[in-house]
Amino acid sequence: MIKELEQLVALQHLDTEIRHLKSELDAIPQRRAEIETEFEQRAFEFRVIENRRDEARKLRDQLERNLDETRARAERAERNLMSSKNEKDYTAAIREIDAARKQISQLETQILEQMEVIEQADAQIKEREPEIVRLRADLEEKLRRFEEQTRQQALALESRQREREQLAASLPRQIIALYDRISARVRDGVAVVEARNGSCTACFMALRPQVMAEIRRGAEIILCDNCSRILYYAPQSSEKSESKAAS
Ligand SMILES: [Zn+2]
Repeated sequence: MIKELEQLVALQHLDTEIRHLKSELDAIPQRRAEIETEFEQRAFEFRVIENRRDEARKLRDQLERNLDETRARAERAERNLMSSKNEKDYTAAIREIDAARKQISQLETQILEQMEVIEQADAQIKEREPEIVRLRADLEEKLRRFEEQTRQQALALESRQREREQLAASLPRQIIALYDRISARVRDGVAVVEARNGSCTACFMALRPQVMAEIRRGAEIILCDNCSRILYYAPQSSEKSESKAAS
């Protein structure tokens, strides 16, 4: 194979790898969100219990505030009772005290109910704690591995881009221009493809035996008649697929 054709194949491999790395790196937020969503799903039941406890705590606090207010109201009514000068004030104070006491008793019952909910939830949380600790450790490990993987991918991208620049600079201008023109035009951006088993591996168009023989010789740059991509012959992958087909 002529040197330029070899370089074009190498350039195509680099570009394909660069495209793949870029799309992996572009997908970082989505990939991270997927890891976190998986954790949230597995921790869902735990969250439900935690929410139930938090709600009960909130409600209990509210009830306790109401209880304090009602107790103050009862005390006020008791003072009014002591200082009542007539039948009307006396009756009103008694009625107020009764109402407040009834409410105090109701509030105390409701507070106890919420305390029970909190207690039960706490017990369930404690029971599930080891599981959630394991899930959280699992999440952190996955995120750590993910960060490391993306760091490696970013480094690989930089180094491939450097290699690509050097390689592109070493190719004759009209050849790199041809390559750029084709890769800009084709949908997948792949300008250099293998000719295998007598056809173009991009568009699957059958190649005339004479054209196939020229591609095998690799003495010049040959384009696919159908898709206009640059064709090359790779003896190794052709042998592999031919022996696979034979077996
Ligand atoms: Zn083709």
